[in-house]
Amino acid sequence: AEFLRLDAAAAEESTTEQGEPPQPVVAVVGRPNVGKSTLVNRILGRREAVVQDTPGVTRDRIAYDATWRGRRFTLVDTGGWEPNASGLQGSVAAQAELAMSAADVVLLVVDATVGATATEEAVAKVLRRSKRPVLLAANKVDDERLLAETASLWSLGLGEPRPVSALHGRSSGDLLDAMVDALPEAPRERDHVAAGPRRVALVGKPNVGKSSLLNKLTGEQRAVVDSVAGTTVDPVDSMVELDEQLWRFVDTAGLRKRVQTASGAEYYASLRTRTAIDAAEVAIVLLDASEPLSEQDLRVVTSVAESGRALVLAFNKWDLVDEDRRHQLDREIDRGLVRVPWAERVNVSALTGRAVRKLAPALRTALASWDQRVPTGQLNSWLSELIAATPPPVRGGKQPKVLFATQAGVRPPTLVLFSTGFLEAGYRRFVERKFRERFGFTGTPVRINVRVRE
Ligand code: GDP
Ligand code: GDP
Repeated sequence: AEFLRLDAAAAEESTTEQGEPPQPVVAVVGRPNVGKSTLVNRILGRREAVVQDTPGVTRDRIAYDATWRGRRFTLVDTGGWEPNASGLQGSVAAQAELAMSAADVVLLVVDATVGATATEEAVAKVLRRSKRPVLLAANKVDDERLLAETASLWSLGLGEPRPVSALHGRSSGDLLDAMVDALPEAPRERDHVAAGPRRVALVGKPNVGKSSLLNKLTGEQRAVVDSVAGTTVDPVDSMVELDEQLWRFVDTAGLRKRVQTASGAEYYASLRTRTAIDAAEVAIVLLDASEPLSEQDLRVVTSVAESGRALVLAFNKWDLVDEDRRHQLDREIDRGLVRVPWAERVNVSALTGRAVRKLAPALRTALASWDQRVPTGQLNSWLSELIAATPPPVRGGKQPKVLFATQAGVRPPTLVLFSTGFLEAGYRRFVERKFRERFGFTGTPVRINVRVRE
């Protein structure tokens, strides 16, 4: 039982633990009218819709997914951050500071036809102190004659000024090359298409009916492939065809042979559960609907959610459930399964075969959510509305500001919120609830990480 953690603190932790590292972030900073938005559109190739100005809604898209030479990164247009009271210079400097805290690379855009102003000098000072790579774009260099102007920007102490014309596209490829070279090493975009059948763990406490269900599922088909191909020893997994799709039920050897070690049975049961969950992409947690939900049931459910696997809850022995028991069970579920309101529930009977056909669609839904990715632009237009309506609570006299978000990973879906301050667990849960209301994600845990400026 030591393997399975149930305590609230442990579950809380899992919302901040790092999943897949987020894709690198490039922040574009500069005074108004230097051409930041034009440059951002140029980089995106105008694939993302240009923001429409709706009265009452300020720029609601500030972060975008971009790709150059096969490298994915998030491009943040800080022009969307509202100016503050300390005047233009202060606001641009604040912009730069925020950008530095959130970004891996900062792109400072200067209007070469104007040259460096006091504002740029102030910002450059802030940027020079940071350890982040900074690229200096000398914009509006529409033709050769303006090249001379760019040289004067060396004085900012940010390295080589790179002439570019955001409007006409001149040299924007060179700028992007330099930008991609400055990005930190990031994991290559993995091929998220699973190789072979999707892997399912069938777990639950002893006597809930796991082996009965597996027998039912395999018994109804013509050919059961007790694979792993080529193995002469006991096959560990079972290939099961459900709903015209082949699934790999992992680690079923123990189930089939019905090993029941007298001593340490529970130890082996929980070890087996752990191993199966780790090997799977989605877990069916089997619960005995005829009996009260137990601590042991909840531990299994929690360990699936914590391991970041997709989840389907199957209430077995439904043939034994009468009206009274059903009402009781509803209350037990409300109380006991509060952590996983997003999991689909299927009421089955391994004995009669009732509703076992519903398992495959539930597995497919859960896996689709597990694989789902929300584009950064869409995510941020939703997030900025949410935060405008319900900002994070003030903490220690300070109002943390959520700047933008990206979905850093899938399997399970992992969001990273970039913020100026710590976001309480309660607020992260609120964001998760709203995120699910908007985007779905039925059947999968969702992780929310917060990147706070140091
Ligand atoms: P932002 O406030 O920094 O986002 O600046 P915008 O992207 O809105 O651009 C301000 C103005 O400068 C617009 O009228 C743009 O058309 C113009 N502009 C942007 N880039 C260039 C450029 O490379 N050359 C010229 N000539 N004008 C540009
Ligand atoms: P496991 O330990 O989880 O593999 O559970 P088993 O498959 O060995 O089942 C434990 C007991 O529950 C056996 O006596 C089964 O016949 C019984 N059982 C399993 N599924 C059902 C069901 O849907 N309805 C009823 N009434 N009994 C069931």
